[in-house]
Amino acid sequence: MKTLSLTAAVALAAIAPATAALAQSNGVERMYILECGQGHTGDMSRWTPGKNVGVPMDIVDSCYLIKHAQGYFLWDTGVTDQTSPNPPPGDPAGITWRRPKTLAAQLTELGVKPDDIKYVAVSHTHPDHSGNVELFPKSMLLVQKAEYEWPNDGRPRFNPQHPVTKLEGDRDVFGDGSVTIISTPGHTPGHQSLLVKLPKTGAVLLTGDAVHFKANWEARGVPGGNVDKEKTVTSMAHMADLLVQNHAQLWINHDKPQREAQKMAPAFYD
Ligand SMILES: [Zn+2]
Repeated sequence: MKTLSLTAAVALAAIAPATAALAQSNGVERMYILECGQGHTGDMSRWTPGKNVGVPMDIVDSCYLIKHAQGYFLWDTGVTDQTSPNPPPGDPAGITWRRPKTLAAQLTELGVKPDDIKYVAVSHTHPDHSGNVELFPKSMLLVQKAEYEWPNDGRPRFNPQHPVTKLEGDRDVFGDGSVTIISTPGHTPGHQSLLVKLPKTGAVLLTGDAVHFKANWEARGVPGGNVDKEKTVTSMAHMADLLVQNHAQLWINHDKPQREAQKMAPAFYD
């Protein structure tokens, strides 16, 4: 018995410092929310099939910059910086985007140069998320293989010269569990979301377009334009599990009321 408990004590002593080291090795320092576009549509029923026909809606578009001890990580790149700050009204059934601030200007304000960004990951290849990928020609692009290779009328989804790591599922980006890409297909074939563990704020799950608004998260609504309804529902169930497991908050990229309650760069979450 005595030998056994001694063995157990030695084993525990070996585990304890390892656990402490793991907690300390979470290298995320802070996360900024960047203004990446503001949109208006005259008909929100594209996201809520059969409901809200002809109901106008304002949406936002967010990018997130994470400062990690190993380098900067940018999540989503928004509508292109070439978008007008005040465009004329477009097709009421579509979305008219404007860009009150460029991504480039916001990074400059933070003292971050494009080459300082070690990794760029986009949730998917719709233009309101991948519009500025080529502002970062040297940054390693982290994208699902299924998204990268998703047929696009014979045109590549990304510049073939851009350094890329094609993922097939989840990826612990820095190897310390602090920033994890989560495969959430359905909206597009290789859609992905991001789980970030901040030192004080705690865990945050960034949706990409796995969900568009709080209302369609709560109703588990699937927008008409999603490529796979069943996978969308499965991805949302997986996200709900992750929220519970990690005591995480859900930050919905396009949800305007939610973002209006959040701090925008240069303020940050740590
Ligand atoms: Zn989308």
